[in-house]
Amino acid sequence: MNDIVIVGGGLTAASAAKTLRTEGFDGGIRIIAAEDHNPYLRPPLSKEYLQGKAGLDEVYIEKDDWYAANNVQVDRGTTVTALHPVDHEVETAAGRIHYDKLLLATGCSPRTLPIPGSDLDGVMTLRTLDDSDRLKAELSGGGKNVVLIGAGWIGLEIASSATQLGNTVTVLERDPVPLGVVLGDELGTYFTEYQRSKGVTIRPSVNITGITGTDGAVSGVALEGGETVPADLVLIGVGVVPNVSLAKDAGLDVQNGITTDAALHTSAPDIFAAGDVAFSLHPVIGTHIRSEHWANALNSGEVVAKSMLGQSVVHDMIPYFYTDQFDLGMEYSGYGTLTKGADVVYRGDPKSNEFIAFWVADGKVVAGMNVNVWDVNEAVQGIITRGNTVDPARLADPSIPLEEL
Ligand SMILES: Cc1cc2nc3c(=O)[nH]c(=O)nc-3n(C[C@H](O)[C@H](O)[C@H](O)COP(=O)(O)OP(=O)(O)OC[C@H]3O[C@@H](n4cnc5c(N)ncnc54)[C@H](O)[C@@H]3O)c2cc1C
Repeated sequence: MNDIVIVGGGLTAASAAKTLRTEGFDGGIRIIAAEDHNPYLRPPLSKEYLQGKAGLDEVYIEKDDWYAANNVQVDRGTTVTALHPVDHEVETAAGRIHYDKLLLATGCSPRTLPIPGSDLDGVMTLRTLDDSDRLKAELSGGGKNVVLIGAGWIGLEIASSATQLGNTVTVLERDPVPLGVVLGDELGTYFTEYQRSKGVTIRPSVNITGITGTDGAVSGVALEGGETVPADLVLIGVGVVPNVSLAKDAGLDVQNGITTDAALHTSAPDIFAAGDVAFSLHPVIGTHIRSEHWANALNSGEVVAKSMLGQSVVHDMIPYFYTDQFDLGMEYSGYGTLTKGADVVYRGDPKSNEFIAFWVADGKVVAGMNVNVWDVNEAVQGIITRGNTVDPARLADPSIPLEEL
C-alpha cells in the first residue's frame, strides 16, 4: 500500500495522519481539506479564542512546518466532489486522485433553520475558524443585543463568551428544558439557572416564526404570538448534521452518519470513516453511535489509522465531552443512549457548583459528569467500565474512593 488519502482537514484527519507516521507508515499521506487552513481545534472557537484569551497558536493542531517535515501533503481549500470506490479514486475540481486506502473525515455542518430572514446580514452560525473570527469582530466591542437560537452546548458557550465580552444575551429554546434531552430535566435546569445567574436571559418553550430585518440587516427575532425580540446579531445553534453526501452518492451505507464497523471500515472496500461523520458500531454497548465531540475525533483518528494499516483494533472508547461556561467547567463520560430513565445520584451539592452526577441504570453507572471537580473523570470511566452493581449511598459518599466502586 502506497497512498492514503484523507478527505476533510479537521482533528480526525490530523490525528489519523500523525498516527500513521508514528506507526511507521512511510507511503503518501494526502489530506484534502475544503477549508483554507491546516487542521485546527474547534473547541476554543466558542470559548478562549472567541473571547480573545487564546491565539492561533493554541488553535492550530501542529505548526505549519510539521506537515512538510512529516511528508504530509495538505491540499487546502480543495473540496472532494465525488468518490469512485471501484476505481479507488476521489474527484476534485482539478481531476481524479488515486488512493489505496481512503479515510472519510468530513465532519459536520451546522443545521440550518428554514425560516424567513435567516439570510439577513448579522445572522450567523459557528463552525469554522473563519466564522469565529467574524463573530469575534462583532462581539468584542460589547454593547450588542445578541440573540442565540438554540440552547445546546455551543449556544451556551457562546452565551458565556458574548456576555463576558459585554453584550446582552438572550437564548431562545424550543424545548421546555434546555439540554433536557441530553442531561435530563434536573440537570438541564441546573445549567439554565447557572447561565441565568450570570446574566443570560434564557427563554424555553418558544417558537420562532422568522428573523426580521431593516435594510437587509437583522433587527430581531419574531416569536409565535407576535412578540419580536430585538437583535443586533443572531446566532443559530440548532445542532449539526453529518457531511455524508459524498458517501451516500457513492453508494456507501449511510444512516445517522457513515456506517462503520467497530474497526471503522465503511461498507466499501478500503474506505474508512471516523470522527463526527462516522456512525460506528460500539463494541461495548453493541449498537451504532455517532459522537460529535473532540475526544472522539482524536481517538477515532488514532484507531482508524491503525485499522488502515491492517492492525486489529476497535474504537471502543467511552464517549466523552467537556464544556466551559463562565467559571464552570464540566466533563461528561458515558453512554447517553443508556441514560434514558436512569436515576441520577449526586456526590456533592449542585448548589455549590462542585459535584459529580452519576446516571444509574439497572444498578450500574452508565454515565457520569463532574462539574468543577477535577482529576476524577478517569475514575468515573473506571466505574462505567467495571460495570459493578453500585450502592447509591456509597456512590454519593465523598469519603468512598471512586476506585472502590
Ligand atoms: C464551536 C465549537 C465548539 C466545540 N466545543 C467542543 C467542546 O467543548 N468539547 C467537545 O468535546 N467538542 C467540541 N466541539 C466538537 C468538536 O470540535 C468536533 O467533534 C470535532 O471538530 C470533529 O472533528 P472532525 O475532524 O471529525 O470534523 P470537523 O472538525 O467537522 O472537520 C471536518 C472537515 O472536513 C471538511 N470537509 C467536509 N467535506 C469535505 C469535502 N467534500 N472535501 C474536503 N473537505 C471536506 C470540512 O470543511 C471540515 O473542515 C466543538 C465544535 C465547535 C464547532
